[in-house]
Amino acid sequence: MSQTAHSLPSLWTPASWQQRVALQQPQYDDSAELGRALSELSHLPPLVTSWEVLALKQALADAQEGKRFLLQGGDCAESFADCTSPIISNRLKVLLQMSLVLVHGLKQPVLRVGRFAGQYAKPRSTDTETRDGVTLPSFRGDVINSPEFTAQARRADPQRLIRAHAHSALTMNFVRALIDGGFADLHHPEYWDLAWVEHSPLAVEYRRMVTAIGDSLRFMETLAGPIAGFTRVDFFTSHEALLLHYEQAITRKVPRHHGWFNLSTHFPWIGMRTAALDGAHVEYFRGIRNPIAVKVGPSVTPDQLLPLIDALNPEDEPGRLTLIHRMGHAQIGDKLSPLLDAVKREGRRVLWVADPMHGNTESTASGYKTRRFDNIRGELDQAFDLHAAAGTRLGGVHLELTGEDVTECMGGARDLSEADLQRAYKSMVDPRLNYEQSLELAMLIVRKSGP
Ligand code: PEP
Ligand code: MN
Repeated sequence: MSQTAHSLPSLWTPASWQQRVALQQPQYDDSAELGRALSELSHLPPLVTSWEVLALKQALADAQEGKRFLLQGGDCAESFADCTSPIISNRLKVLLQMSLVLVHGLKQPVLRVGRFAGQYAKPRSTDTETRDGVTLPSFRGDVINSPEFTAQARRADPQRLIRAHAHSALTMNFVRALIDGGFADLHHPEYWDLAWVEHSPLAVEYRRMVTAIGDSLRFMETLAGPIAGFTRVDFFTSHEALLLHYEQAITRKVPRHHGWFNLSTHFPWIGMRTAALDGAHVEYFRGIRNPIAVKVGPSVTPDQLLPLIDALNPEDEPGRLTLIHRMGHAQIGDKLSPLLDAVKREGRRVLWVADPMHGNTESTASGYKTRRFDNIRGELDQAFDLHAAAGTRLGGVHLELTGEDVTECMGGARDLSEADLQRAYKSMVDPRLNYEQSLELAMLIVRKSGP
């Protein structure tokens, strides 16, 4: 890591990342075509506003102080084909149902952030893929290319930048309309019911919570009159800001708020593979005013983490920096505590969040990428215990999930087996919790950490 790069901070611009090494970027074969697409993108309206971004930053500052719990979830990779009414509304429903369980059980407000409306770029372990002697570029997400194994599909196509923006806007528009229309009204949790909850072994416990919430709401409103905040919930968006040309084109100067904002999402994060201190992603992120997150994997040491915190949050601003640890159930016991201790010792302000998904990915003999529910749960259980022992607070969870009835992760209440995976494996990249496994995990979080 180059310390000199940071001992002499140079002028930041939305393009200054281009002076650094940018990992995980596609090769575009026609730079003029790329330039035209980026120019078009830079004139299109943004997807979120700076007011919303700053409201989220304040809510994350509250979470840092233990006054809120963050629920962040959605697909590993969104796809253009999944930009449909049922998929978007089912995903929103499962997140709302989980948040209902968390609000009830943790007795504190839940901050809801969807991994959607922009989660279209994926880091890959290899740049190319070879099948039957043919080598093509890897699939890097719908904003870049297409998963079919043909040269045309795998070409990095600049037009996809525009399509990704449009699909993000369509998703956002529908989510905003559902929320404004009362879809998330706490008085009507029955709107959120998913047909399959009827057949779930968890249905009784879930319905008991819904009834208890309705009862407390009516009781409070009898005493205090209608409570405005309960008729709607806030919902924010996040994605891995991996494809820096795209992010730069939707980075706008907001004079009213004195700075540059990434207005493609409220809450961008840096993935584990692109978090090098002297890399392009850290350079880009240091200059935007959004709240930001960084994924922290088992190879990160305190000596690496502290300079990263300095680079990304030099003023120790509340709400600015979230660290999402993703160690894996076998490693979290050894790897997390030194980081918690170091950040605590230095008195740095961060929100700690657990991603119990990405350190627990494995492949079956038949080639499915999967995760075991028990390992996900095991990592989360340990995370709560390790934070308690360190005197720090686990302030949220980051999950890959879907509202669909998929069979991608094994285990859970229905104890999905390896043989079940072939029934409904739909993920293009990483395996997601289905609606029922997601709800079960929310209930387990409450049992583990509720009052
Ligand atoms: C992801 O969140 O899909 C991801 C790639 O995470 P990580 O950077 O932790 O591997
Ligand atoms: Mn993933």
